[in-house]
Amino acid sequence: MAGDDAPRRYLLRTFGCQMNEHDSERIAGLLEADGLTPATNEDDADVIVLNTCCIREKADNRLYGTLGHLKSRKDARPALQIVVGGCLAQKDREVVRQRAPHVDVVLGTHNVHRAADLIRASREGRGPVTEILDAAVADDAVMFPSALPARREQGHAAWVSIQIGCDNACAFCIVPAVRGPEMSRPFNALIDEVRALAADGVSEITLLGQNVNSYGRDLTLTARRSGRDVAVRPLFADLLRAAGAVEGIRRIRFTSPHPKDLRPETIAAMAEVQAVCPHLHLPLQSGSDRVLAAMHRGYTAERYLQRLAAARAAIDDLAVTTDIIVGFPGETEADFTRTLEVAAEAEYDSAYTFIFSSRSGTEAADMLDQAVPADVVAERFERLRVVVEHSAVARHRARIGRMEEVTVEGPSGKDPSLLTGRTGQNKLIHFAAPTMIRSGAYATVRVTGAASHHLTGELVEVTVGPRHRTRIPVAMA
Ligand code: SF4
Repeated sequence: MAGDDAPRRYLLRTFGCQMNEHDSERIAGLLEADGLTPATNEDDADVIVLNTCCIREKADNRLYGTLGHLKSRKDARPALQIVVGGCLAQKDREVVRQRAPHVDVVLGTHNVHRAADLIRASREGRGPVTEILDAAVADDAVMFPSALPARREQGHAAWVSIQIGCDNACAFCIVPAVRGPEMSRPFNALIDEVRALAADGVSEITLLGQNVNSYGRDLTLTARRSGRDVAVRPLFADLLRAAGAVEGIRRIRFTSPHPKDLRPETIAAMAEVQAVCPHLHLPLQSGSDRVLAAMHRGYTAERYLQRLAAARAAIDDLAVTTDIIVGFPGETEADFTRTLEVAAEAEYDSAYTFIFSSRSGTEAADMLDQAVPADVVAERFERLRVVVEHSAVARHRARIGRMEEVTVEGPSGKDPSLLTGRTGQNKLIHFAAPTMIRSGAYATVRVTGAASHHLTGELVEVTVGPRHRTRIPVAMA
């Protein structure tokens, strides 16, 4: 907690996905632009911001548990401000107010740009403030947090939101209700932002959207064709190519593409643009056509596998990851067996496997009469884990002996005598290095070991500057 003259301090906790982490960077940037500084812990904080997620029920429980614990702090120190933002605030603003009346500010997903103003207004005497924008507003700075100031966790890497909302209607998902319909950020504004990030020393960007492959469906650009101006729709592939041409951008990642919208143009851009990382996160959700139809996913298992095969055939050394839900209402043993078969055939590098969690406001919440018993779900979850780990370990072992280009992230959390980095395939690698290497540097690392969730290795050389301008060989002790 700051003294009278010291700058006020904020603590930010993020629940949920990368979109939320990206919003949190923007909230932190706005608060710091307003004169606040980061706190190290709750005792030290004048403002505590909880940026929430509503994808899973556990997230609700964690939020209300945290708010309950913060109530005693607020009772002891009434000047402490508690702020709830994010998807849960957008969806359940009244519930947050009723269950936690000690919260000072509730702000929605479309109000990120107002965070500092609302915190100040509440402090200056307006008391508790709730502000939620329900409708999408065609204002870049309002709708796309990328257009706001940010406090980036890693100087060399940045998220770029290219799209908000989602036009799909997956039966288990609350996102369309919370984030609204899809809206693509204008193409030229995005490329300008990528250029500005590169000028600021960023070499790796991650393009963010709920369904990046449908980027541009709502945009029109003017292009010169056969000597005249014509209106064209930009594709996600065009964005990959344009971002990949920006000087200084060495790695491009993106998340998440919907399998039904994975176009050949995207696969071709991934294969041809050197900066696009050889990693595709392609959510399967289920291997059963019956369950996929009930989920409204818009593809069959066979179609999914065909697209995956096309991507693997075109893109050299492609890593593939996925999301799978176990225990969707009505999932039978035969359905689940199909999921195991498809997962085995896909040979994933890793998978985020989730136990189905019902969210009120989704179609699946009305299907609970078909709920799969918890013990059956737990047993299926374990069987799926074994299948995924089998392919993950095999694919990781196949990399032993290879040279990997790695972005250095810093000392390993588990063993500070090692450094941690990310390969182009987005694999975590812990490696021995004779000297400290700054975070954000690129290095060549020889892979010496493999586990299901990471690789181990040893440093070969550090590369300086964009795209291997200088190589500094390193002699290992
Ligand atoms: S594609 Fe489906 S799972 Fe993804 S955000 Fe849209 S509705 Fe949710």
